[in-house]
Amino acid sequence: MHFAEIKKIINKQKPLAFVGTYGCQQNVSDSEKIKALLLRMGYSFTKEKKDADLIVFNTCAVRESAELRVLGSIGVLKTLKKRNPKLVIAVCGCMTEQNHIKKKIVDTFPFVDIVIGTNSIFSLKNLIIESSTKNHKKTINSVLQKISTRETDENLSKYREDQTSAFVPIMHGCNNFCSYCIVPYVRGRESSRDPRAIKKEIEDLVENGCKCITLLGQNVNSYGKNLDHPIDFTELLRSITEISGDYWIRFMTSHPKDITKELIDEIAVNDKICKHIHLPFQSGSNRILKKMNRHYTREKYIKIAEYAKEKIPYLSLTSDVIVGFPSETYEDFKRTLSLVKSIRFSSLFTFIYSKRKGTPAADIEDPILHQEKLKWFEELLKIQKDISGEFCSKFVGKTEKILLKEDCQKALRIAKTNQNITVHLHNLQERNIPNGFFEAKLTGHKGQTLIGTLDF
Ligand code: SF4
Repeated sequence: MHFAEIKKIINKQKPLAFVGTYGCQQNVSDSEKIKALLLRMGYSFTKEKKDADLIVFNTCAVRESAELRVLGSIGVLKTLKKRNPKLVIAVCGCMTEQNHIKKKIVDTFPFVDIVIGTNSIFSLKNLIIESSTKNHKKTINSVLQKISTRETDENLSKYREDQTSAFVPIMHGCNNFCSYCIVPYVRGRESSRDPRAIKKEIEDLVENGCKCITLLGQNVNSYGKNLDHPIDFTELLRSITEISGDYWIRFMTSHPKDITKELIDEIAVNDKICKHIHLPFQSGSNRILKKMNRHYTREKYIKIAEYAKEKIPYLSLTSDVIVGFPSETYEDFKRTLSLVKSIRFSSLFTFIYSKRKGTPAADIEDPILHQEKLKWFEELLKIQKDISGEFCSKFVGKTEKILLKEDCQKALRIAKTNQNITVHLHNLQERNIPNGFFEAKLTGHKGQTLIGTLDF
């Protein structure tokens, strides 16, 4: 089936697609594959669902609130489908990998045409063609995740709106089974990409002017274990940074049980690797860490964090924290607060525990009321706010290399330091300034944002 036929069916020369992305950077990267595939099919993109001939929701299952938001957004499409019966609606991503959610989508929203899993992007083209050519008399619901292969998605190219920075997945899935987390169930077991394919992708990006590449993996520190010729993450980083050019490499996420001193030593001496480590600790209580199945203790975390801070001057150490894990007491929570006060993270991503059906933590008794958890959460935020400000203040008075780039989601231009701190630039509008690296004089900070002027 040639795409010209779809154009005929839709009766439009330039059919429009809306791609909505929820959740993490991995999903952003998957949406780039979806967009490249749609572009090749002849679609252009719109930011308005009401103008679209095709709507794709790439969903996230990590928190219940995100799922509810997606389900609400799908529900609203009923009116659009009524108005335009030729509209094709596709739902993909982590949510559709959970049987109860998949059933809910199929049963509650019969106007959804296509439902596919996380590793089935390659199948989208045929399903859209099928859906468009059935004259919309029949709804197709296909969940193909079990018959797809990652290799098939691996070969898809990406459409990147932002030419200055890029996400590059180096591995997929996760083997850790933290007791609260749905990721291993929806993204499958850990598998690393071929280092040659990663390097080639980054060489192409650098050649095309990309200045900041973020390597993605659920646990980058276990990179390489399933490869025929295993190499570890530090070796991969070294090999990538041999590519000549002026660019930064970032990576996320590290796991405290697997991060090595060799990696920290490499970050310390390698100019191309940003001085930022995202190292989630989740809880400061050993009792809770055990229930979370995290495989490290508070003491081990503190030791590795202190080693990194000592080795890397001006290191930005960031972390994820879960507040109100089932059975957590205020005493446990106070252990989290004391860890935060002692490590002094540059910023924290804080979450109130969200129950995920099918995970072991969902079966642990959870007597603490949400209101109580909210109070703890606010206590943590208040403490962290001052610590983040204190971290920013270390840069005030300095002249730093910053990267000016687009934030495509917010349609804004933003500047970031090597440590990934946002800089608000006073004189950005003065000239027609392209994206790229500049020097900026940092004159102050407001909370977690630095304030400065470009140094021409
Ligand atoms: S390391 Fe734990 S929290 Fe992270 S994706 Fe894997 S299971 Fe989830």
